[in-house]
Amino acid sequence: MSPGRALIVGAGLAGSLLAVYLARAGWTVELVERRSDPRARRFAAGRSINLAISARGIKALRRAGLEDAVMKDAIRMGGRMVHPVEGAAGYQPYSADPTRAINSVSRSALNLALLDAAAAEANVTVRFDERCASVDFAKGEVTFVNDATGASRTATADLVVGADGAYSAVRGALQKTERFNYSQDFLGHGYKELHIPPVASGPHAPFAMEPNALHIWPRGESMMIALPNPDGSFTCTLFWRHDGAGSSFAAVKTGADALAHFRAVYPDAVPLMPTLAEDFAKNPVGVMVTVRCSPWTRGRVTLLGDAAHAIVPFYGQGANASFEDCEALVDALASSATVDDALKTYEAARIANANAIADMALRNFIEMRDLTGRASFKWTKKIEHALNRIMPATFVPLYDLVSFSTVPYSEAKARGAANDRAVRWIVGAAGTLVTTAAAIATILLMRSGATT
Ligand SMILES: Cc1cc2nc3c(=O)[nH]c(=O)nc-3n(C[C@H](O)[C@H](O)[C@H](O)COP(=O)(O)OP(=O)(O)OC[C@H]3O[C@@H](n4cnc5c(N)ncnc54)[C@H](O)[C@@H]3O)c2cc1C
Repeated sequence: MSPGRALIVGAGLAGSLLAVYLARAGWTVELVERRSDPRARRFAAGRSINLAISARGIKALRRAGLEDAVMKDAIRMGGRMVHPVEGAAGYQPYSADPTRAINSVSRSALNLALLDAAAAEANVTVRFDERCASVDFAKGEVTFVNDATGASRTATADLVVGADGAYSAVRGALQKTERFNYSQDFLGHGYKELHIPPVASGPHAPFAMEPNALHIWPRGESMMIALPNPDGSFTCTLFWRHDGAGSSFAAVKTGADALAHFRAVYPDAVPLMPTLAEDFAKNPVGVMVTVRCSPWTRGRVTLLGDAAHAIVPFYGQGANASFEDCEALVDALASSATVDDALKTYEAARIANANAIADMALRNFIEMRDLTGRASFKWTKKIEHALNRIMPATFVPLYDLVSFSTVPYSEAKARGAANDRAVRWIVGAAGTLVTTAAAIATILLMRSGATT
C-alpha cells in the first residue's frame, strides 16, 4: 500500500514513537496531544519519575535510532535488592547471565526524546492543547477541543490511531459501538511516589544505596520499591491497599502517621528519606487498572499502547509492550495491501500478547510484594538459574523471557508455566530422594544397632 495520511491521538511514549516510524515509512502524520507542549518546560527543575526499559523497549528505540540517546543516561539494574524489616538487604540477580539488566530511565526525558524525534521529521505536525472529544468511526473523523479557548475542529485521515493512554477517549468512543468487548479492573492497591535524595558521602555516593539494583521492601500485602536516577536520587513508589487497616492509604493519612509507620515497617529507609512526611502528605495516591478489550479496530481507527491494554506496572512492561505495538503496526502496514488488512494483522498479532503480559504483571505483584522476601523463592530462582546455565537453549526462566528477550508474551507465559512444572518436579524428586536416603540410613542404623 502506498503511505497516506495518519492521525495519532496522544503524544505520549507510544504515540510519539509511532509518529517517527510512520513518518520514516513515508506517511504524513498529524500527532495531537491534550496537554501543552512539554518542551516549553524542558529545563524546569523537578523530581525525576523513572521507569524500567528492557529488551523490547530497547529494540524499538534502536529501530528509531534513539537507543544511544535514551540509554546514555540509563542506570542498569541487574537484580533486586531486598530489604527485610530487620537485618541487611540481600541482592537477588535477575538472570543467570550477569550482563543482563533492566534500565532505569527518566520518563520525562524519554518522552521528550521521542517527541523531539517526531517533531524533527519533516512530514510530522505536532499539535498541543487539543483534546480528542469524539470519534466518527464510519468517516474516520476525530473532533478535537481546546479546553482553554473552547475552539473545536475535526480532522480525518487514512489511518487513525488512539494512543491516548489508559483512560483513552478513542476507546471510550469504541465502547459505544456494537460488539465491543471491554473489561476494566482496578487494583485494590494504589501507589504514591516518594523520594530519596542524593548524598554527599558514603560507599555509593552520590547514591544513598547501591545504584545498580531495583530496591524492594516486600511486606506481604504491600511493598515499597526504589529506582535510581542519574542525579544520585531514587524515586520510591509505595504500593499500599486503598482501604483497610495496617499499611493502607485509608489507615495512614498524615505525614506524621507515615513517619511512625515507616519507622516500624521500613526502618532502614527512614534515615534516607528526610522529606518523607512532607512528600507523603503532598503527593497524590495513584490508581492502577488492567484494561482488556477487543476488537481494537473499527474501520480505519485502531488502538495502541495503554489505550488498548493498560496493565499494572509490576513487570515494568507497559511502555515496553506499547513500543512493541508500534513495531507491529508499522510492520503490518508495510506488508499489507490495504489499511483494513494491516489493522487486522496488527490486532491479531497483539491482543493475545497484551492479555498475556496483563496476567503476568498481576502475578508479579505477588512475587514482588511477598515471595521475594521468602527463602523458598530464593531457592527456586537459584534452581532456575542453574537449569538455565546447564540448558541455556531449552530452559529460559520467565523473567529472562519477558525482560531480556523479545519472545512473544503469550509464548513466554506458556514457557514460564512449563518451567514451573519442571522446577516443581525437580524439587519433588529431590525431596523424595532425600526422604528415601534418610529412610535407608535409618534402616541401616537400626540393623547395625540390632547386630551389635
Ligand atoms: C507507577 C507506574 C510505573 C510504571 N513503570 C513502568 C516501567 O517501569 N516500565 C514500563 O515499561 N512501563 C511502566 N509503566 C507503564 C507506562 O507508563 C505506560 O505503559 C506507557 O506510558 C504507555 O504509553 P502510552 O503512550 O500508551 O500512554 P501515555 O504515556 O499515558 O500517553 C498517552 C498520551 O495521550 C494523551 N491524551 C490522553 N487523553 C487524550 C485525549 N482525549 N486527546 C488527546 N490526547 C490525550 C496524554 O496526555 C498522554 O500524553 C508504569 C506505569 C505506572 C502508572
